[in-house]
Amino acid sequence: MIEEPIPVDFKLTPENELEIKWNDNEVTRYRFQFLRGSCPCAECVSEDTGQRLVFPKDIPSNIRPVEARPVGRYAYQIVWSDGHDTGLFSYKYLRELAIGDS
Ligand SMILES: [Zn+2]
Repeated sequence: MIEEPIPVDFKLTPENELEIKWNDNEVTRYRFQFLRGSCPCAECVSEDTGQRLVFPKDIPSNIRPVEARPVGRYAYQIVWSDGHDTGLFSYKYLRELAIGDS
């Protein structure tokens, strides 16, 4: 059985990025604005059509994550400085996003 990678550490960098270290030794980084604009919750992505409603360009550049709460063993719930806290960022999704944020 192949296990999905899980985070072992994360921190906020001076470059306004979230940096995650994974148990397979990968290190991934996400700009706050990009990550907030990639939120997968029902307010940010239409449940009916799957269309994204909120994009990184819609997010203020001073956005910051306030808290990242582990949810089970598969996701972080990220609380943002704009009060948005409904996004569950699964570890799988975070690994996929790391490829897109370049
Ligand atoms: Zn959202």
